[in-house]
Amino acid sequence: MLESAIMTSRLITGVRILDGTGREPFAGSVRIEGDRIAEVSPTPLAARPGEPAIDGRGATLMPGLVEPHAHLSFADVSSHDLTRLPVEEHVLATVRNARTMLDAGYTSALSAAAAKPRLDVVVKREIEAGRIPGPRLLANGPEITVTGGLGDTNLLHLPHHETPTFCWIVDGPDAMRRACRLLAREGVDLLKLNLSGDLGTSAWSSELTPMTAAEVEAAMEVARSRGLRVCAHCRSGDAVRMAVRHGVEIIYHANYCDEAALDALEAARGRVFVAPALGITYTLSQASGQWGVTPARAREFERELAASVESIARMRARGIRVLPGGDYGFPFSPHGTYARDLWLFVKVLGFSPMETLVAATRQGGEIMGLPGELGVVRPGALADLLLVDGDPLADIAILQDPSAIRMIMKNGNLHRAP
Ligand SMILES: [Zn+2]
Repeated sequence: MLESAIMTSRLITGVRILDGTGREPFAGSVRIEGDRIAEVSPTPLAARPGEPAIDGRGATLMPGLVEPHAHLSFADVSSHDLTRLPVEEHVLATVRNARTMLDAGYTSALSAAAAKPRLDVVVKREIEAGRIPGPRLLANGPEITVTGGLGDTNLLHLPHHETPTFCWIVDGPDAMRRACRLLAREGVDLLKLNLSGDLGTSAWSSELTPMTAAEVEAAMEVARSRGLRVCAHCRSGDAVRMAVRHGVEIIYHANYCDEAALDALEAARGRVFVAPALGITYTLSQASGQWGVTPARAREFERELAASVESIARMRARGIRVLPGGDYGFPFSPHGTYARDLWLFVKVLGFSPMETLVAATRQGGEIMGLPGELGVVRPGALADLLLVDGDPLADIAILQDPSAIRMIMKNGNLHRAP
């Protein structure tokens, strides 16, 4: 027994430990045994006979990053092109993106929707079996929307109706229950509901809430009975309030939060998470002339960004958990650039680098359903660790440079050896 523990242990010495809890970094050594952290010591630890040791001098050892709004199957193309991607190419793109995410130092991802029903589920199983590299993944199905809601791109005058694959259009509680049960049967961990509209196209507005309370409650009934967690696209204040009222745990965007929506989030702050996923809003607010964004459209994104900055400042003041990350997988937010969200939290939302990294690690572990066990460097926690050249607290942007991440470890296994 002792023999095998020694065989699978590994020592990392001479590092500056940023433990994810908000504690100031300290010098020390860390021992990993199997998939867990066994020891975190401020004094140097000596390697056991035969134990491999990594000399981490000059580097920061920190928990792996968590992406709380991942779209591994979004292939850096438009939603329209996503629907038309054949399943064979689509599986391969999803596998590539899983590797890209881990390569970027993101050792965990909570999916905010898959572009075909089983893409997340099959990729998650392959990752867990160790057959392909990728983050620890919670699998989602397609976004669930209603006629005229976000994702329903049909219009009566068009020559034919196209059924989008990245979202399912359901109307009424019965259709909602059926969709959710079907996804539960296929093995998802999560459901994604599009409660509000969006700014991305002109067919719907961010401030509308086309999904009804009865439809949300129908999804929650299935979620509760099947042990699934629910996340929701909620840009409007109405959508945020409806989501919280019905027990949705993960709220995306929350751009237009009125006082009542903030009160609801605050009252539920022990169980809800907000992930604003502002990267697209930020990029498109400055993208006039690119990707078909007109100057008028850029101004709308600018307005949405301003409203979001205000909403999030008020959430932060109320102690609501707000996590960086989100919506990478479009042409204007390609895979691999996830850590730009950390920079955005600091530069645009005014979070300190420490607050941002706690949100991306310890609170990331909480949103993954492993509080205290994931996203922290402490004895007993899962060994998902990064060795970063330099100090991310002094310059959060270094995490955007994959070559600055010397080592990536997931579950005690080295994905990138130093
Ligand atoms: Zn999304």
